[in-house]
Amino acid sequence: MGRKFLPLMGGMEIKDQVILVTGGARGLGFAMLAAFGERGGRLVVCDRAGSAAAAETLRAQGYDATGIDCNVTEESSVVSAFEQIAAQVGPVNIAILNAGILRDGLLIRFNKATGKIKGKMSLEQWQSVIDVNLTGVFLTGREAAAQMAEAGGGLIIPISSVAMHGNPGQSNYSAAKAGVAALTRLWAQELSRFKIRVCGIAPGFIATEMVLKDMNAKALEEWQSRIPIGRLGRPDEIAHTAVFIAENDLMTGVVVEASGGIKI
Ligand code: NDP
Repeated sequence: MGRKFLPLMGGMEIKDQVILVTGGARGLGFAMLAAFGERGGRLVVCDRAGSAAAAETLRAQGYDATGIDCNVTEESSVVSAFEQIAAQVGPVNIAILNAGILRDGLLIRFNKATGKIKGKMSLEQWQSVIDVNLTGVFLTGREAAAQMAEAGGGLIIPISSVAMHGNPGQSNYSAAKAGVAALTRLWAQELSRFKIRVCGIAPGFIATEMVLKDMNAKALEEWQSRIPIGRLGRPDEIAHTAVFIAENDLMTGVVVEASGGIKI
């Protein structure tokens, strides 16, 4: 039997819902899990590694949490994770498709002195980001939709980025995140007949390891000076956006930009 989706102020009651977050062991994913845990959700951490330890940390904070490792780029790993979740916790009600990586670089790099090309974005650099950030969303979104359709409804929150508009130095990342935004809009239409809402979030620059460690420090400093609110976003602000989407039935078929006003 599927779970009931009782209307609460026109939205979903988070208490007792099964909430899966890919890439949930740290960063935005972990913050979103904690926010849903605070509201009585049953949390499932699905990271490439360390899911059990992250779940233990969440349990120590008083939340109901289970950890199941899952590599979102591998079909067998994703299918198996969803089977384990259904068996151990129950069918997924809210799936936040958050796992993502950065491998920034210019399409081509030019040496002015020699007039020759000195570097190119490698196929590996392109493919690795497409695999995690786009194929990973396809695979986890597909399995979530299948489980939700059988259970009578649900909510999928794909995590895109303001880079979806096309950010120089991020051919791979921007292409993947634009693809995620397109999937959000089309899945909302395809899946509405199963009572599944699909609403994405496109964060701006948020203070997580991805930004603080993986981004070029000079580029980050330049970006920071262009954020209208004058600071990086915080993970709890993105988590709050996800909770707002869950609690509001009107939110489907769009990608909410939570960016402090940055324009790309
Ligand atoms: P982090 O790098 O802090 O966390 C990403 C998590 O995803 C890590 O735990 C990572 O695991 C996991 N992961 C990576 N590859 C896989 C995989 N193949 N299968 C399962 N899990 C995987 O990133 P953020 O929290 O900053 O970002 C979360 C999401 O938000 C990403 O999709 C990102 O693109 C998006 N975003 C972030 C922004 C920001 O400013 N922080 C801005 C816009 C969008 P591991 O540690 O093993 O690599």
